[in-house]
Amino acid sequence: MITMKGIAASNGYAIGPAFVYNPQTVEITDKKVKDTQAEWTRLSVAVDTAIKQLEASYENALNEVGEETAAIFEAHMEMLGDPELLDTAKEAILDEYLNAEAALHRTAEAFAVALEGMDDEYFRARAADIRDVTHRVICIMNGVDNSQLFSALKEPSVILAPDLTPSDTINLNKSLVLGFCTGTGGPTSHTAILARTLGLPAIVGAGMKILEVHTGESMILDGRNGDLIAQPDPETLAIYKVRQENWNKFCEEALKIAKEPAITRDGHQVEVVANVGSVEESEQAIQQGAEGVGLLRTEFVYLGKNHLPDEDEQYQAYKSILDVFGQRPVVLRTLDIGGDKELPYLKIAPETNPFLGVRAIRLCMQQPELFKPQLRAIIRSGFGHNLKVMFPMIATVPELRAAKKIMQECRAELEAEGKPLPAKMEIGIMIEIPSAVMLADHLAKEVDFFSIGTNDLTQYTMAADRTNPGVSYLNDALSPAVLRLVSRAIEEAHKAGIWIGMCGELAGEPVAIPVLLGLGLDEFSMNAPAIPLAKYIIRQLSLEKCQQIAKKALEMCSCEDVVQYVQKELPITNQG
Ligand code: PEP
Ligand code: MG
Repeated sequence: MITMKGIAASNGYAIGPAFVYNPQTVEITDKKVKDTQAEWTRLSVAVDTAIKQLEASYENALNEVGEETAAIFEAHMEMLGDPELLDTAKEAILDEYLNAEAALHRTAEAFAVALEGMDDEYFRARAADIRDVTHRVICIMNGVDNSQLFSALKEPSVILAPDLTPSDTINLNKSLVLGFCTGTGGPTSHTAILARTLGLPAIVGAGMKILEVHTGESMILDGRNGDLIAQPDPETLAIYKVRQENWNKFCEEALKIAKEPAITRDGHQVEVVANVGSVEESEQAIQQGAEGVGLLRTEFVYLGKNHLPDEDEQYQAYKSILDVFGQRPVVLRTLDIGGDKELPYLKIAPETNPFLGVRAIRLCMQQPELFKPQLRAIIRSGFGHNLKVMFPMIATVPELRAAKKIMQECRAELEAEGKPLPAKMEIGIMIEIPSAVMLADHLAKEVDFFSIGTNDLTQYTMAADRTNPGVSYLNDALSPAVLRLVSRAIEEAHKAGIWIGMCGELAGEPVAIPVLLGLGLDEFSMNAPAIPLAKYIIRQLSLEKCQQIAKKALEMCSCEDVVQYVQKELPITNQG
């Protein structure tokens, strides 16, 4: 029996034979070429071949698995069509006499590293795409084809791989996957996101020794604590079989009642809603019991394009999501881009400290030609729906007033044009900067609701870049420092008579739920697959007990103490 440890990336247990997927790679070395023009032609031809392959894969995926998966190939085609990518590689060939593989690889790495440094999960996931699609081109240049490797997968198995790229997983028959384990990658890698979306257990970052396992060997994958066990002894196997059975039963039960409200044992009801960024995610959210949307990330409309989407394009995109939710509440966040998040068609000056720079509402206020079409599209799309709007990264009262003024101007313009508009639209702000917490009493008088963004609130409170692994130990939203800010924001919201939600990752964390309930949070917004468990947990709790727990948690001096204390008080969060 061999136990290996990785990062728990998606909940649950997988037990079954291993399937080792170890695609052939092309070693890339820098070489000097003489005929640079021929080398550039070699690259261009491979790019053309890759685009043809992608077109075919797009059509296949569209027919077989649907639009969402097919969109990956479309995005890859767009990446290969990006003149910046190929021009940079071309320059390296023509000016530095570099071989095509090295030139493309170096360019792609620079793009990918820039994407990985971004705080938005969506952008970080695009880093895998850029590596993936350029690797495809490099493989074509070297006659390597990995597309058939997954055809050897014939029985339900635990997939072990160095890493899984988006196009690797396209060729994978998902019905034969019990779970995933990758040697590299972090909690936001493509594999982790895919596993959570599919509801399959997963471990990432387990190291390359996992590839020493042989296909067919018996495996246990514990996605709850990151243990991967090869050739388990009969006792261990029996223990895990019971754990798996309990966990699966528990999830089935939780899902069966996911559409019912989240009411504590003593009758306190909270809203449980989803964070979404596409129509597909929205449909999934309804199935998982979302009562609406607490965070609609509008960045999706702007990404994967080479032009700024116009008002009508945006209107259609927002409307298509609102239609999924009918009359359920949907909180839409205005554009949260800038600083480290780039759009190719948006010129933003480089900044030394992008997280502290011209981001989100700051950028929108500086570029009304960017902001106004979005606001007009939002207001129009709200007609016939329960749409609420919130501004990200609000730090001061004048900033909020200025944003609201532009919103009013847009509404007046639309009224004058005779467009059908919603009668009332709630306006709120994200509470994700400590100054907003300190000014929460003033801000609360100017809005209808708050939504706490713990991802940013934590990084700004702890002065720890949320994308920097070197300081990840500081980026824990259960730190009493952050909890005290959350508590104050909730208190001020309620004093002013407005509701307050949370759309940062903390809202969906089982161990945080009792604390947040006890602090008085009204709305919990999370990734859809987390909803059934969150609702289940809420139903097991009593508000009174949670209030006691929250009070104590605020007095603790570290996040470790908070976690230990809550888990001791409420073993329900260890279910399974
Ligand atoms: C947050 O900061 O908590 C949040 C929800 O916004 P994002 O992660 O998109 O910055
Ligand atoms: Mg944020």
